[in-house]
Amino acid sequence: MVQRLLEPGEIESLDHTAIPRLLLPRPGELYTARAERLRQLAQNNIKGIPVEENLASYVRLMAELVQAQADVVKNLPPAGVPLPPQEALRVAHEHNMPVLPVSGKRPAEWRAVFAAILEKLDGKTAEYPQLGTALAALRALTDAQLEGAADAVLGEFAEGIDPLHAPFVAAALQVTWSAMAAQLDERWAQPLMTGTLCPVCGSHPVASVIRIGGQSQGYRYLHCAVCASEWHMVRVKCSCCEDNSKVAYQGLTDADADPVAENIAAAKEGKTLNKANDPTRVARAETCDQCHSYRKIFNQEHDYNVDPLADDLASLVLDVLVSELGYARASGNPLLRLGSPA
Ligand SMILES: [Zn+2]
Ligand SMILES: [Zn+2]
Repeated sequence: MVQRLLEPGEIESLDHTAIPRLLLPRPGELYTARAERLRQLAQNNIKGIPVEENLASYVRLMAELVQAQADVVKNLPPAGVPLPPQEALRVAHEHNMPVLPVSGKRPAEWRAVFAAILEKLDGKTAEYPQLGTALAALRALTDAQLEGAADAVLGEFAEGIDPLHAPFVAAALQVTWSAMAAQLDERWAQPLMTGTLCPVCGSHPVASVIRIGGQSQGYRYLHCAVCASEWHMVRVKCSCCEDNSKVAYQGLTDADADPVAENIAAAKEGKTLNKANDPTRVARAETCDQCHSYRKIFNQEHDYNVDPLADDLASLVLDVLVSELGYARASGNPLLRLGSPA
């Protein structure tokens, strides 16, 4: 019998107890669920993430944008956005580089996706008068300006883009990259030298999420702001500098300040320890006194429908609280740029 060397993906698949390191996106469901989550958040229906009225109107508008993403994904041709040639994937894989790098050549399809998203939003301008102005300005961009705006979004810099345009450009890039990532075989994506960037596209995570269900039970994942892939990182570790000695958590209420004491109190009353569906534990900020930054962490154990990007957007009050404590936000939210929606 001829011995055959195992490919990397096959080696891992032999270990059925292994933590799934990478959860590739399912754009067909992702954007629909995210739009619904944003609508629920805007209606202040999510216990644990209170949304004030001035933010709610912005969240409602972003729900329309994400719904447009969902509608465009449904109408993508079967191949969606084609993957780069196998050879390019192989070279990136061998060098532990992102296989679909946002810093690389952009697939030309993204501009058609952008145009399709704007078209979906045309029907909403009566409801949101400011949207009509934005759509007209976005359509007036030259090709060079539009590509410059995409560079600014993907490179996370402020020059070359109007902050009010950024969410619309980001939305098209998200659809483009998640459509490619969804076609990947996950063995193409190697862990990078750093655990703090997306192994698929090299972008920063928007937030963390603790997942439940299947082999992902209770594990923490970082959610990519662009391609929506999720990659595993152990809990209680800074997602910015990877130090684990000075990590702490800030919630919106005092109730979650001391879960141990709370659990002991619950036990004395004959209640269950570590109760699920506790709204005070849905959204927290993971702060680090090593690098003085923070990123939010959302817990599916306490709200099954958490969406890291939507929940991050709607929990601005937590950003205010944590920044007052002196921590800087580790990276941005693609649907919220540079002071909008002030
Ligand atoms: Zn990514
Ligand atoms: Zn840190």
